[in-house]
Amino acid sequence: MILTEFKPIEELLEKLKDEKKIFILGCGGCPEGAETGGKKILNEMKNKLENEGKIITGVMEIDFLCHKALIRSRTRRRLNEIENADSLLIFSCGLGVQASSSIMTKVCYPALNTKTFNGITGMWQGTERCDTCGDCLLDFTGGICPYTACPKKLLNGSCAGQSKGKCETDPERDCGWELIYKSLKRIGQIERLYNFIPPRDYKKVLPPTELRKSSLWALDEKEVI
Ligand code: SF4
Ligand code: SF4
Repeated sequence: MILTEFKPIEELLEKLKDEKKIFILGCGGCPEGAETGGKKILNEMKNKLENEGKIITGVMEIDFLCHKALIRSRTRRRLNEIENADSLLIFSCGLGVQASSSIMTKVCYPALNTKTFNGITGMWQGTERCDTCGDCLLDFTGGICPYTACPKKLLNGSCAGQSKGKCETDPERDCGWELIYKSLKRIGQIERLYNFIPPRDYKKVLPPTELRKSSLWALDEKEVI
């Protein structure tokens, strides 16, 4: 089970302040178990955003958002609603936001923060990787995680060692910041590179106290007998 928590609503509204029309996409896998997803929660967010004057072009839940082929096939019938939106708001772990971002041609805003990958997950073993930073920033980086795409975990552009788009640490490996640049360029959001991403706050990695007291957490922590 991948454990996620809601981003504070104030932070979310600030991120979405320039977005008028939004499509809400949720994962029906781990977030349902972590009580950060499910149709009820998606519809509650729809109401909240409509009260803030946003237009919600559609709400949709897909079994596993970390599965790109599944996203492609399931969204086929909802393309008009997605096309009609300025951006997407994604209820999933970082992997789901990464997978959605790689398919969509719009910014995908994470609605959740990923706290831990303990236990069994529905993880799609593709190029998506999440470092469970507890403060998902994929809307700034075109859906590419700088913590996992860059071995130095750089947050504001590439190091001087980059050579022709390849990483200093391994010439066979694409530079994470080259991938971020290409992804933002593909969706016409290159100006997002001007946002300063503050240093990682390691306090956010730790799951909140309430979660660590829950039965869900106890099950994840339980040793195999
Ligand atoms: S920014 Fe990266 S490490 Fe942090 S939650 Fe998102 S995908 Fe995971
Ligand atoms: S070359 Fe790119 S991916 Fe490699 S360490 Fe430098 S910034 Fe990170």
